[in-house]
Amino acid sequence: MTPPPAPAMAAGESTDTVHGDPPRRHVLLFPLPYQGHINPMFRLAGVLHSRGFAVTVFHTHFNAPDPSRHPEYRFVPVADGMSSSATVPVAIEDVVAQILALTAACEAPFRDRLAAVLDEYSKDAVACLIADAHLLPIFTVATSLAVPTLALRTGSAACCACFLAYPMLFEKGYLPVKGMSSLILSRDMPVKEVPPYRVRDLIILGDDEDERGGQARELVARAVASVKVSSGLILNTFDALERPELEGLRRDLAMPVLDVGPIHKFAPAGDSSLLRQDRSCLEWLDTWPPASVLYVSFGSVACITRREMEETAWGIAGSGVPFIWVVRPGMVRGSTPNQQELPEGFEAATRGRGVLVTWAPQEEVLRHRGVGGFWTHSGWNSTMESVCEGVPMLCRPNFGDQMGNARYVEHVWKVGFEVDGELDRGNVEAAVRRLMTDKDGAEMRARAGELKKAAAECTGKGGSSSVAIDKLSWFGSHARRRTSPDKGTAPLNPATPSSNPSLVG
Ligand code: UDP
Repeated sequence: MTPPPAPAMAAGESTDTVHGDPPRRHVLLFPLPYQGHINPMFRLAGVLHSRGFAVTVFHTHFNAPDPSRHPEYRFVPVADGMSSSATVPVAIEDVVAQILALTAACEAPFRDRLAAVLDEYSKDAVACLIADAHLLPIFTVATSLAVPTLALRTGSAACCACFLAYPMLFEKGYLPVKGMSSLILSRDMPVKEVPPYRVRDLIILGDDEDERGGQARELVARAVASVKVSSGLILNTFDALERPELEGLRRDLAMPVLDVGPIHKFAPAGDSSLLRQDRSCLEWLDTWPPASVLYVSFGSVACITRREMEETAWGIAGSGVPFIWVVRPGMVRGSTPNQQELPEGFEAATRGRGVLVTWAPQEEVLRHRGVGGFWTHSGWNSTMESVCEGVPMLCRPNFGDQMGNARYVEHVWKVGFEVDGELDRGNVEAAVRRLMTDKDGAEMRARAGELKKAAAECTGKGGSSSVAIDKLSWFGSHARRRTSPDKGTAPLNPATPSSNPSLVG
């Protein structure tokens, strides 16, 4: 896609020239260092760079990006207090604890780094900071140094609305959940305040009553606070997919909400993968008829038990459907390095009709005409990437926002279905057949095809997502550091254009 021309820069806005081009204004970015958060932030970087902005990426040492893959950006490392051997934990409660520890450790080093960058760039050269909404301390620092901020949330608009509703859900008694077992009785109960969610679709991060549950609650509250101190919210979704949810957010937040998704359709493909993508599966896909291959991936964090792995494997084998399966190192809980992840005999049983990779070029795989279905953990990026390629989904959500995403896939967009309960090879086989070869699956594929068209309209000329990106560029061209810093985290008021322009304009 050809990006629109870069906005004209006022003389003296920046001293930074790139390859003799006109001076660029600087957009500062800070992603949360997990794959599902890094990818959309780097796509946003690509969009902004193509619109004429210089991009400075602040990043943790943990899961640091590789600057050599993005020579056009400046990278500023921020100490995060983590050891160089740190990895993403397998339990979601531990991921939450890791995020809280990481963000706390970053605050002081980021203050020094940001102050140094602001000293270095000419006055008014810095447009704004766009940070992941999970990084509240980063927003606090930026605000105290008078840098306007925008919050990027990498989940759906519906998930964001659910985050906003979290305190009310506690007040009304939907939460806390006293241990996951008590959910069994009430898990199908509708939560009428946030339809179409049921209790089981809520963001339940562990047992909400223990210390870790408290941390989860803290994480959600911080994500909301980051949004509220910002000049606007950026979401990787599109109007035709989540119009009522977007309207609800605009009303409840009373701030600009920019639906720029699917963001990967705007940005030049830049590789922000933490793991090396195995591209050999694309050639293999060329040999299969249209919509015949099942793509299986559980994203970058979700883990399964050894039993689930075995039942999934034998169910896929029994279905007779060709497949590409991403078996990420460490994906099976409790496995040791070099341990055989797949059951004995599986490769022989599926020889010639299956490919295993440790990490796939997912967007390209989903775009390939050979792919007819996606077995997914229902991460938001995976859901968006599937929807906008017209690929129906078999959902096996694991934690966080994934249950809610699966609910929308099955109940609202009707482009897939959830496989719930205990996995066994029989129900896996039946689910795969339903998606790939049954009439039911074909109807879901047809509806996904409609969403693909709708996504293309939103990202096309004059489409809602294109307009949102225009607004974002406009904001970047006009936002200014304030003359006096805010105290604490008082919200930037988009209605005071003298200090910061309104994104609505
Ligand atoms: N991804 C990939 N190769 C893989 C599996 C995933 O490139 O083999 C990418 C995928 O395209 C998506 C991201 O990793 O952009 C995963 O994000 P998502 O929100 O779906 O899930 P998470 O990993 O955050 O749980």
